[in-house]
Amino acid sequence: MLGFKKPVVITALLFILVVALAGCQAHTETTQPVTDKNEHKLTVFVSILPQADFVRQLGGEQVEVNVMMLPGANEHNYEPDTGQLKALSRADLYIKVGHLPFEDAWMERFISTNRDMLVVDSSQSIEIIEHNPHIWLSPRLVKVQAETISAALVQLDPQNQEYYLQRKQVFLKELDKLDREIAATLSGVKGKSFLVYHPAWGYFARDYGLQEVAIEEHGKEPGAREMSRIIDYAKKNQVKTIFASSQHSTHSAEAIAADLGARVVLLDPLPVDYMDNMRKVAKTMAAELGGEQ
Ligand SMILES: [Zn+2]
Repeated sequence: MLGFKKPVVITALLFILVVALAGCQAHTETTQPVTDKNEHKLTVFVSILPQADFVRQLGGEQVEVNVMMLPGANEHNYEPDTGQLKALSRADLYIKVGHLPFEDAWMERFISTNRDMLVVDSSQSIEIIEHNPHIWLSPRLVKVQAETISAALVQLDPQNQEYYLQRKQVFLKELDKLDREIAATLSGVKGKSFLVYHPAWGYFARDYGLQEVAIEEHGKEPGAREMSRIIDYAKKNQVKTIFASSQHSTHSAEAIAADLGARVVLLDPLPVDYMDNMRKVAKTMAAELGGEQ
């Protein structure tokens, strides 16, 4: 009996769904761009907080954004909980950073919970250097990521193409402005190198003529030999500041700082407010590197 009933029920539900969707489309066409109708929002999942900022800038009222990695967590060894996997099953779109170890470890599972979800890799048009995933910390590379994200929104919601294109133009202009501001802020310390625990700022350093020297090695605290090599380097270069972040261990940064009489200054590689944070980072680096060799 059950075996007979089920298909009937499913067919009836599908019919209702088709009718409902048809109704939605007709409605959308007459009120473009739709900016205030909850039922039309795209549910988007991203891996890290700054991506959520990008998607909101690009999608505006048309997107509902969920972040896989919760605040305070580390983007290299994160593990999602069951509640997030459940939420993921209702998503329209997942935007990967690309090359994050937790994405590589979990993506198959993510896809298996939601086979209808479009998965987009935001690093797809970007040249990745030595498996370094921190492409979101270069405003110039965020422009490339914005193109990829915007194209995915248009693909899933073509009726609002104009709306997404307008928002993209505004966002790209803001990124250009941010880029010019950071370049101006750091112009006085161009050519300098800086010491950092976790190597998140390599693309940023490349864009603005700086050089990043990382303490962490392959995601691990350095060994004794590496520590003494770093301390020698820091003494030679009169390093006064070691940059670290609250999401990663600050243990060896503090040990080296104590040995050198230097101080540890925190930079945020996973900001909620991207533009504001990047301006702060540039100002902090300019101030800290300004007094060093
Ligand atoms: Zn990282």
